[in-house]
Amino acid sequence: MPINWNNELQTALSAQIPKIIQTGKYLYDRGWLYATSGNISSVVSSRDGVIAITESGTPKGSLTPENIIAIDRDMNVLKGTGKPSSETLLHIELVSSAGAGAVIHTHSVWSNAISAHFSDSDGIYLSGYEMLKALQGVNTHKHEEFIPLLENSQNMKEVSNKIHEMMKQKEGLHGFILRKHGLYTWGKDLNEGLRHLEALEYLLETEGRLLSFKDK
Ligand SMILES: [Zn+2]
Repeated sequence: MPINWNNELQTALSAQIPKIIQTGKYLYDRGWLYATSGNISSVVSSRDGVIAITESGTPKGSLTPENIIAIDRDMNVLKGTGKPSSETLLHIELVSSAGAGAVIHTHSVWSNAISAHFSDSDGIYLSGYEMLKALQGVNTHKHEEFIPLLENSQNMKEVSNKIHEMMKQKEGLHGFILRKHGLYTWGKDLNEGLRHLEALEYLLETEGRLLSFKDK
């Protein structure tokens, strides 16, 4: 059924826009969203399945309110003039299958390097790090966090289907990497998503630097 845009949705969207802009600037400044890469989304209405997301092709360090669009579960644009990127499908899938309230996708150097290094592997385990406790539900450094490494593709429908299956099979995931492409993580809201992102980027960088020590 088509969604009727109303004041309630507009108020909820208006509340998300500055948070997404601020997050984009922060992530860009950290070097995790170079060029026009990555996307950030936040749920506007879980009842109506409405998501606010950065439009396709914009640098995330200098977003304006016009660069944030509202879409429904079928990727129809409900508010705004921009186009959703094809990767919006993955955000919609994660909101549905991971129960995410916000999804953050970066094209960071360390997620690319790690996924390229472990080219034969379908995932990596992170364990022993105090930083793991920044992930929701984790309360010890002894936790083993699995980060799936999925093959990249230009067919996001195919990737979205794989994520759907993966989320059914593996409980407790906090993120995954599309190989030589970037990291996806999520949280109950943007704050939690950002905390997960910082923790995972930190852990991936630490693992990556450790590999370079081992080569010497
Ligand atoms: Zn991407």
